[in-house]
Formats: sequence, C-alpha cells, structure tokens
Amino acid sequence: MEATEARTSLGAFGEYGGQYVPETVMAALAELKDAYWRFRDDAEFSREMDDLRERFVGRPTPLFRAPSMSAELGCRVYLKREDLCHTGSHKLNNALGQVLLAKRMGKERIIAETGAGQHGVATATACALLDLPCQVYMGAEDVRRQALNVYRMELLGTEVIPVESGSRTLKDAINEAFRDWVTNVATTHYVIGSVVGPHPYPTLVRDLQSVVGREVIEQSRELEGRLPDVIIACVGGGSNAIGIFHPFIEHKETQLIGVEAGGRGMDTMAHAAPLGAGAPGVLHGARTYVMQDEHGQIVETHSVSAGLDYPAVGPEHSWLRDSGRATYVAADDDEALEAFGYLSRTEGIIPALESAHAIAYARKLCPGLDEDAIVVINNSGRGDKDVVEVARLSGRDLIAQGGA
Ligand SMILES: *Cc1c(COP(=O)(O)O)cnc(C)c1O
Repeated sequence: MEATEARTSLGAFGEYGGQYVPETVMAALAELKDAYWRFRDDAEFSREMDDLRERFVGRPTPLFRAPSMSAELGCRVYLKREDLCHTGSHKLNNALGQVLLAKRMGKERIIAETGAGQHGVATATACALLDLPCQVYMGAEDVRRQALNVYRMELLGTEVIPVESGSRTLKDAINEAFRDWVTNVATTHYVIGSVVGPHPYPTLVRDLQSVVGREVIEQSRELEGRLPDVIIACVGGGSNAIGIFHPFIEHKETQLIGVEAGGRGMDTMAHAAPLGAGAPGVLHGARTYVMQDEHGQIVETHSVSAGLDYPAVGPEHSWLRDSGRATYVAADDDEALEAFGYLSRTEGIIPALESAHAIAYARKLCPGLDEDAIVVINNSGRGDKDVVEVARLSGRDLIAQGGA
C-alpha cells in the first residue's frame, strides 16, 4: 500500500520515476528526501554551495562563442564549457552537492558507484575536500579498463571495491552500492552519479546540475540579448542534459535536443539509446525507458564512450520525450569520433567522447538553420581521458609507446 502511494505521490514524472524498491530501502529514501527538502531552502546551505561552486569547482563556466564552427556551420554556435570544471566535467556539480548534504545530515561515510570512473573521481574529490571517508563500487571489468581513474581515486584517499557479480560493469556496481546503503543507512550516504535511481535522486541530482542551465540563461541574455533557439546535450543517464534543459522547460521558444549514443548504428542492437529504441520498464528503482529484449530482460549496450554506455535513462527525460518538450536523436560511434577530432582542430578544445555526440549532431542540424539562430552545445567534459582510446581506435598504441 505504502509503496503504491509512494510511486504515485513522490517525484513521478508523469508515469515515470517513482520508487520501485524493496521495503528496506524506503526508509532510507524517505530520510534523504526529508533532509534534501529541508536543506534546499536553507540559506546557509545555499551560501556554502555557491561558495564551493565558485572557489573549488570554478563556476560559472564560460559560454564560449565558437568562431570557426559558427562560420563554417552558418549559425551562432556556443559551447557551455563544463570541460573547465575541476576534475574535467559537470560531474562535480552533483558529487559536491551530495557530499555537502550528507555532511549536513550527519553522515559519517560516503559510498558511490562508478562506471568509467569519472563520477568516482568527482565523489572522491568532494570527500577529500569535505573530509569524509569514501568507498566506491566499480565493476571488476571497469577496474581493469580504467586503471588510471582507479589510481586517481586512491590518491584522493578513496577505497575502490571491485564488483565481481553479473557483467562486472556499471549496473552491477549500482546494485552493490544499493546493497551497502540499505545495510548501513544510519551512517552512510550513497552518492548516485546521474539523474537515475528511485525518487528523490532524479530530482536531487537535477537540481544540483541545473546551475548549468541557469548560467546559460544569464550568459545568453548578456551576450545576445535573448535566449538560445536550440540547446543540444548528450544523454547517458541524462544529468548534463537535464542540468542545461531544466531551467529552459518553461521557455518554450527554446528547442531542447538530447543526443543518445548510436553505437554501431540504430539498426543494430549495439547502441545505448533507450529513448530512441527502448521501451518503458523498471531499472534501478525507477520506471523509465530501458533497453530490453522481447522478454523484458535488460540487453547489453554499446558505445565508444563509456559515460553513455548505460541501458536506461533518467525518468524526467522519458517524460520530456513523451510530452514532446524535448526531442531525442542519436549520433553513432563514427560520427562522435569524427566530431572529437573536428572540435579539437577547429576550436582548440578536445571534448569528451560523450560531449562529441552533441557536437556531431550540431554539425548536422546547424546548416539547416537561420544564420541568426543561437545554438548552445553542452560541452560536458574534456577529452584528455579519451585520448589513449581514440588513438588506439585509429591504430596507434600510446601505452606501448610509453606516451600515457
Ligand atoms: C558521465 C558523463 C556523461 C554522461 O552522463 P550524463 O548523466 O548523461 O550527463 C556525459 N559527459 C561526460 C563528460 C561525462 O563524464
């Protein structure tokens, strides 16, 4: 009974979201929600958050007019420079906010999950700053593939726990982190890395990432005297996209476009585009679009960028998709790799492979737009982390050459 009420009254985005969790997790979620609702309106909490954003993360990040892209594509192209955030992506916006909240809640320990390691590094960074012990669950397969980020987390004082169950990747790490949280909830906060999971996580993470969109509103008014016509962002779990979209939802004149990972092509099953080719289902405590087979089993996904390689998506995106307020397209591996090189050459900015999906779609869209059209691309992270892999895909082994 209670669970049913929770699903309908708490944080559902239309028919999406909710709390599809065992009874044992409900109390933990209720405590988190109460604490978050309290601190969301707390002036001192906001002041401390603003101060850390400015002095530690490096906010506001610039809204940069991309001169060569604008000239070549025939419209006014801007990049929101989340690549300039401390630790190299938007992820710290969320991790820092959640660790600060946990500290205010009196928690003594932080846990997190990580796939490629970016969220693990952001959480480890926030814990080092705010002086809380941290353990990060990571699939054993990812531990092997992402040795550099594992070592970064260790340098930051975090313990990385390899997960040997299932496919030994991100979704198994999330399951393990939930298990830990349920057992240790009195002392422990679980920092989820994207706008996924049961309520209130999708709302909490969205609010912490919305600083990106709020800054774009202010910066676009200052630079152009009006709001953008189009906003484009890549979608993995969906946090960088919802962060830049959310403050624009009420500004109907701005078109919102999310770009999923098309992998080896949308006509194959080797992609990570649940909004484009999945169906509603339940994963990690929320109802949302999920990549599944005809029996409802979660299918293996593929993307050249680890950060987009996830079989579901934040429930708010499912709602925005169905309502038509945002549209979702895909860019495949080859298009993303080409955009990775393109932005590096034309603007002197090496983007994350994730962000390169948004760049790739902008290159297709812009030539059809008016030359006065203002297009903002969320450059969610920097590409230094991807250089070894991109070189390997083009036939150069930088590790064997001693270059990494
Ligand atoms: C993790 C990551 C993403 C994907 O996650 P979202 O929650 O969809 O934003 C995108 N870009 C970068 C740079 C990332 O590190």
